[in-house]
Amino acid sequence: KNRTVIITGASSGLGKATVAALNNAGGHHIVMAVRDAAKAEQVAQELGLPAKSYSILELQLDSFESVKTFVRKFKATGRQLDCLCCNAAVYLPNQPVPTFTPDGYEESVQVNHLSHFLLCRLLMADLAKSKNDPRMIIVGSITGNTNTVGGGAVAPFANLGDLKGLEAMIDGEQKSMMDGKEYWGAKCYKDSKLANMMTVLQLHDRYHEDTGITFSSMYPGCIAETALFRQKRGWFRWFFPIFMKFVTGGYVSQEEAGERLAQVVSSEDCSESGVYWAWNGGAKTVGWYDFSMGGVRGAGGAGGKVFKCNPSAECRDKVLGDKLWELSEEAVGMT
Ligand code: NDP
Repeated sequence: KNRTVIITGASSGLGKATVAALNNAGGHHIVMAVRDAAKAEQVAQELGLPAKSYSILELQLDSFESVKTFVRKFKATGRQLDCLCCNAAVYLPNQPVPTFTPDGYEESVQVNHLSHFLLCRLLMADLAKSKNDPRMIIVGSITGNTNTVGGGAVAPFANLGDLKGLEAMIDGEQKSMMDGKEYWGAKCYKDSKLANMMTVLQLHDRYHEDTGITFSSMYPGCIAETALFRQKRGWFRWFFPIFMKFVTGGYVSQEEAGERLAQVVSSEDCSESGVYWAWNGGAKTVGWYDFSMGGVRGAGGAGGKVFKCNPSAECRDKVLGDKLWELSEEAVGMT
């Protein structure tokens, strides 16, 4: 039976590759939730999506109002939602100063975490009605998981502190980091990815039993050529894929990464809830340095099988997770 899947950020990188993979697999209606509808239409043409297999709905993740409008418009289509896949993100490593959304939050906090949090909450009841393997996914990252080399060896390290910064943002202060410290764009991204993974564990604890929804996060591998790295300088964008491919072995093509996320959307292999999925691909050992994930040698790169990756202790911290949940509710106006 045809499954309806919403994918945020479907017009680029991993999102676009996932649309392609689901289209190849067949049996999906894809709702492309995007900030630029014309770009998404071009992508749909480029991928040769059959007209009835997709629709495009505008979603500006830097605005809570836009998230609400999106949900209203989706509900008005009358489609039964079977999977919500939160994939869009911004990575802003090269800004000397933070950028703020019209709602007053640092951009990566809102685009990557808060707006997806709101989207998940507003679509929960609809998804729970699905009789067709309901799933809710938020894409995570090795960089938000400090018990892995990718997240634990290269500064800055993801860390939400005591969430004093997020609390201050809610109170209207122009704070840029959830931990309340000085602005560091790369850390904002990693922190938001940690928040994504913590949110999935919270969603599982709070909703899985009652709704039967499968909640998952995943690390697709290092897709070194996507537009995510648009703020990086030219030499880095040239060198990074080569380094990831030949030195660390953590590199994965956009196409393969898309197949991985499509697996989390629909495959039997990923039907367990509350899991952070990763792939045991070709990551290498260079000297004493093991570019693997969570102690699992060879994880992340091309090839390999899906496995359950252990989230970091901070990610599994229940007290912090509850606090993040409550503050996020407050931030998006749900309390
Ligand atoms: P891209 O930059 O290619 O894709 C990001 C998507 O998010 C784009 O479609 C973009 O829209 C959309 N987006 C950005 N800002 C907004 C906004 N304000 N409102 C709505 N949509 C927005 O990056 P990737 O494909 O690499 O990233 C996809 C996911 O994969 C992210 O969650 C990222 O954290 C994760 N990831 C990526 C890794 C990598 O190595 N690339 C590694 C680990 C995780 P538009 O098309 O208009 O630009």
